Amino acid sequence: MSKDVSMDTIVNLAKRRGFVFAGSEIYGGLANSWDYGPLGVELQNNIKKAWWKKFVTSRLDMVGIDAALIMNPKVWEASGHVATFSDPLVECKNCHERYRADQIDVTAACKKCGSKNTFTDPAAFNLMLKTFLGPKEDVAAQAYLRPETAQAMFADFSQVLASSRKRVPFGIAQIGRAFRNEITPGNFIFRVREFDIMEFEYFVHPSEWEKHFEYWLMEMHDWIEECGISTQKSHDLEVLKEDRAHYSSRTVDIEFDYPFGRRELYGLAYRGDFDLRNHSEHSGKDLSYTDPVTSEKYIPHVIEPTFGLGRTFLAVLLSAYDEEIGEDGEKRVVLRLKPHLAPVKAAILPLMKKEEIVNVAKPLAEMLAKEFPVEYDETQSIGKRYRRQDEIGTPYCVTVDYESLEDNAVTVRDRDSMKQERVAIAEVKDYLGEKISTNN
Ligand code: ATP
Repeated sequence: MSKDVSMDTIVNLAKRRGFVFAGSEIYGGLANSWDYGPLGVELQNNIKKAWWKKFVTSRLDMVGIDAALIMNPKVWEASGHVATFSDPLVECKNCHERYRADQIDVTAACKKCGSKNTFTDPAAFNLMLKTFLGPKEDVAAQAYLRPETAQAMFADFSQVLASSRKRVPFGIAQIGRAFRNEITPGNFIFRVREFDIMEFEYFVHPSEWEKHFEYWLMEMHDWIEECGISTQKSHDLEVLKEDRAHYSSRTVDIEFDYPFGRRELYGLAYRGDFDLRNHSEHSGKDLSYTDPVTSEKYIPHVIEPTFGLGRTFLAVLLSAYDEEIGEDGEKRVVLRLKPHLAPVKAAILPLMKKEEIVNVAKPLAEMLAKEFPVEYDETQSIGKRYRRQDEIGTPYCVTVDYESLEDNAVTVRDRDSMKQERVAIAEVKDYLGEKISTNN
């Protein structure tokens, strides 16, 4: 269904239509910083809403939190981030360009200046962004912007357990921003220095981790389908022992075929009792769990599915992009977004900018806007207006014409089939509402 598309095409569309812009553009931008525009913020919110519904509110074994971005620095000592959250940094001795040693061939020539055998020995570069709390910029005031969201779920474990009265197995979920001082950000929103993560820690009895791991892998696949992310382009990668974090005895990365290559979209890691045990030891608080039925006391083990929001956003756009010949014989670009993710659900278009027609179309748009996001557009030819809506993935266009004044009905055009149907104005709200909620 979707068409292979270049990054240039997607970046241009994203900018032109208001999905994603370069950040701080009027000041010449800031390298690799991106702002989500009016349509981008809707698509992003719809992804978050769908994720939260699927993994949190529609389940009885999951609860959510929203933790502070800056945590006690002791958290990052206990988690191992202060000591080991680093990438190997090498620098070209000739032009001083910096690279991640694990992403280049260090015996080859520098990609920037072409010098050979010129790289420094790899040095560990900690990816955590630092800041200072309060007016004194000294070591005691130093804190970190969180490089991941997971640690809050461990640090808050006993408070969540006590207040929610959940029993193992259960999960704690969070959607929030993380910061990493990446050495080589790039590829649009794929690798940036601040990004949102949607993830949960699922706490299980140690003897049952394999069953839960398999289950969550299937659920991740389901999610991919539900988002309309191409299943042909998504692949499971069983991460080898030498590439896994030392505490993990199984990790599966779900990779996606981006135009710049096959890269990590999501991760699923079995973290054992590493986190709760470490936080117990460092904080002096007992984070074990006592089974209310068997009275067995143990530290729960953790399965962690993690979903980058920006990488989801990009995979959704790439999978939805399509080109075909339209009604007018010209190339039609269409984003075949699932209706529940589409930023605009319907566009209300008066066929002509004539008072009598506008007088029907505008109140209809205002009424529908109370139910779901709609656009009202009365400028340009109807062909151009359809083209814009196709390009932003609006599933339905509603046209009001002279006949509407006679028959109190409008024409509803389906984005994908381009079929047109006459629907009574009084029924448009229910007609669209039903299609948007079921047709996903
Ligand atoms: P990578 O190997 O690509 O650096 P990672 O294995 O370090 O990623 P995790 O620590 O598992 O990534 O982060 C969780 C998720 O957050 C990833 O699966 C990915 O979707 C997303 N992510 C990680 N780093 C970035 C980044 N710099 N920009 C955007 N999203 C990111």
